[in-house]
Amino acid sequence: MVCQCCGMPLEDATTSREPDGAFNEEYCKWCYTDGNFVYSDQKELTDFLVAHMANENWPPEQARAYFEAELPKLAHWKQKKQ
Ligand SMILES: [Zn+2]
Repeated sequence: MVCQCCGMPLEDATTSREPDGAFNEEYCKWCYTDGNFVYSDQKELTDFLVAHMANENWPPEQARAYFEAELPKLAHWKQKKQ
């Protein structure tokens, strides 16, 4: 299972919860908090991911190209396009 917003693998510790405490197994806790989505658009999320995931072995331009290719495949962003 991966987060349908950012693509990160989901484990119990990283899975989001609804405001009533129930797991929401579609999203990680960073993308979906207290019943709300943290990122309003794909660019905002891409900027965040590039800033945090790029490193000396994975330059920001490569990271950005990767997320720009992969994020549109996730359910959350597919829904947004419709
Ligand atoms: Zn996520």
